[in-house]
Amino acid sequence: MSSNKVAYICSSAHAGSTILELLLSGHPEMSGLGEVLYLNADLERQVPCACGMALYECNSWHGALRQIEKTRMVDFSSSPFEFWLGEINYKNVDWYNSYRKVRHHFRNALEFLIYRLGLGGAAHYFPYVGKSVRNVSLLYEALGNLRDVSFLIDSSKRYLHGLNLYLQNKGSFKFVYLIRDGRSVMASHLKRGHSLKNSVYNWKNFYDRSQSLFSKYVSDEDVIFIKFEDLCTKPESTLEKICVFLGVSTTYTYDMLNMDRDELHTVGGNWTKFDNQIKLRPPRDWSELLNKDQENYFNEHALTTNVKLGYG
Ligand SMILES: [Zn+2]
Repeated sequence: MSSNKVAYICSSAHAGSTILELLLSGHPEMSGLGEVLYLNADLERQVPCACGMALYECNSWHGALRQIEKTRMVDFSSSPFEFWLGEINYKNVDWYNSYRKVRHHFRNALEFLIYRLGLGGAAHYFPYVGKSVRNVSLLYEALGNLRDVSFLIDSSKRYLHGLNLYLQNKGSFKFVYLIRDGRSVMASHLKRGHSLKNSVYNWKNFYDRSQSLFSKYVSDEDVIFIKFEDLCTKPESTLEKICVFLGVSTTYTYDMLNMDRDELHTVGGNWTKFDNQIKLRPPRDWSELLNKDQENYFNEHALTTNVKLGYG
């Protein structure tokens, strides 16, 4: 691990992690990497860096990728998954990849169980976990040498992946744990055509499971809990809180809130990061987006989780 620290954004899908990363990247002591977990898939599918350049050609990635190619004897262009970071390519659905998908889910379930049993540190001895942690840490180090900042921001979001990295890099790894009202997240999933069940359970499982593990494994000084709604309605004080937590200067909230970035070099994530017009505005009221049946379904299956997270 380099002298750079890592701020890892942990959240469910559709909780606002891309916007949070965009805001934090406006701080001169921080640099956003995007969803590092998806670097392999982005290289394979030739998805460009957020700056618009091919990843391998972008100056904020090239030197680090080149360094890894040389020291690890890998070739990102011919085998983008050889230096594996912990995620498979979900966009491919042939039979071989379907098998890999099932295996991937099985591994995640097993890993969760190990953590639940209080043996989280042992997950590192699973070869695939150890490999992913080693490779991501090496990538952080190579990128840290390239980007002159105190904090690299990884918005990969996954809690097990984050915990694995945390346990091996204690002291230089902090979590920004992002929470959002489950009813708004549900509305966001439904808008994208997801089923009622998936729209609720993806969110609920994430917070139920990750909260139970965080309380066991993560020290209070290494995690800050942020509500997406606070970020939208009182952005300055919320960003200031995050800066204090990370130990970086609190004088840059104005720069952070000016989200017209031309210097963003992130991978993965959704495409809003390419939209220069992105604005931080109060989230729409979920009650205007859900009908009565959908609201009842949510209350029946996930109300307890929502209340636990602080939503009445
Ligand atoms: Zn770039």
